[in-house]
Amino acid sequence: MIDLKNLTIEKAHEAMKAGEYTSRQLTQAYLDVIAEKNKNIFAFIEVFDDALVQADAADAVFKSGKATLLTGIPFGTKDNILIEGKHASAASGILVPYISTYDATVIKLLKEQGAVFLGRTNMDDSAMGSSTQTSYYGITKNPHDESRVPGGSSGGSAAAVASDMSLVALGTETCGSVRQPAALCGLVGLKPTYGALSRNGLIAMGNSLDQAAPMTKTVRESEIIFQTLSKYDPMDSTSVSEELRITNYELQKGSTPSKKIGIPRSFFAKGLDNEVEKNFNESVEKLKNAGYEIVDLEMPDLEYSLAVYYIIMPAEVSTNLSRFDGIRYGLSLDGKDLLEVYEKSRGTGFGKEVRRRILLGTYILSHGYYDAYYNKAVLLRDKITREIKKAFESVDFIMTPTTPTPAFKIGEKMDDPVAMYLCDIFAAPANLSGIPAIAIPSGETASGLPLSVQFISPHWGESSLFEIGKKFETLR
Ligand code: GLN
Repeated sequence: MIDLKNLTIEKAHEAMKAGEYTSRQLTQAYLDVIAEKNKNIFAFIEVFDDALVQADAADAVFKSGKATLLTGIPFGTKDNILIEGKHASAASGILVPYISTYDATVIKLLKEQGAVFLGRTNMDDSAMGSSTQTSYYGITKNPHDESRVPGGSSGGSAAAVASDMSLVALGTETCGSVRQPAALCGLVGLKPTYGALSRNGLIAMGNSLDQAAPMTKTVRESEIIFQTLSKYDPMDSTSVSEELRITNYELQKGSTPSKKIGIPRSFFAKGLDNEVEKNFNESVEKLKNAGYEIVDLEMPDLEYSLAVYYIIMPAEVSTNLSRFDGIRYGLSLDGKDLLEVYEKSRGTGFGKEVRRRILLGTYILSHGYYDAYYNKAVLLRDKITREIKKAFESVDFIMTPTTPTPAFKIGEKMDDPVAMYLCDIFAAPANLSGIPAIAIPSGETASGLPLSVQFISPHWGESSLFEIGKKFETLR
């Protein structure tokens, strides 16, 4: 019996290298857990029928002595990441029949390492949501308490890792979709610097915000996946060249003192759950005792982050999703003329929340309102980014709770979109300004629900995030 609960990438690698078990046996162990738990938790939309074939190929690589850390490692992948020849639908009715014609760059990089793809994980329709309740295929449950949501939109990836249906997983972030479900399921979730991981082959939501992102049990595993996937890609026009990555990182590293954490309390003081607040303060104390310097930050512009996100994101969504017209991809329903084809296909294919955002985005970008909404939001986005950059002149990290509350009940917030949007409140600044952030488990509520804090660093500060993250793991 493999101890899946305590398994990490490195432990699995060592065991496979030592011949304790093969990737086929490891993959089968996960498939067995999926067979047992997925009916109920519903982390996976589909389990790939060639998972064991992929594992055999990885075992051959081990035999040849060329295995790397990710060879033979089972991954769950969110349903908005393309894998050639497999369905990819972003859990949206409009894309259910779609089959990917190429590999996303992040998948290509993992294939080069011999990773094993177990299947596609569930998510909110088109990556819009914070609870994985709007998927075309059905809801995913939180493995820590099945009456609760796993968070979203990468809730399937989170639930898969948290219930040992997969060793690690990939999700995507537009605004918190990896950090928030990681927090609600007791995992580590990294939102990389914008431009670090290629967006080529992700089903786009908001191009200026999207990033693929790892979800793991430990910080070290997040680091391994990040290091493998953080590569310049000519297929993504916003991918940053290798040269600039290093320069940027060294620049920010040299200009700041070490071990200094800033806390923008007025940003998150309102509306915080009591247990989240208590746990956050305890986490700060632990860091203080471990030698970190803690200072307060006044960052008055952060409070506009969510409002700005909910202007910029729908504008980009309405543009991106116009390609799903009932003609080119996925679902196509007959109509008496072209307009009726559009109306029927899009009206039936997209869920309610997606339609809401397309309408909102179309309105925001319309002639009469473009200046009033979109342009104003772009200016404010820049102001927020400048405020964050200013803060990093005096601190190394900004720290906040990852989410305002622990996992909430299934059904809750479904009739109140604004309450659902507020789940993203602490996530938005990093996505808007393109900086990286990592969510790390920080304890549990009295009833055993996971709690989490996030550390945010300047652009290209991932290695500092991994460093503080590993330290924080030892303080829990
Ligand atoms: N909760 C965010 C939203 O609904 C999630 C977006 C994302 O990161 N994919 O927009």
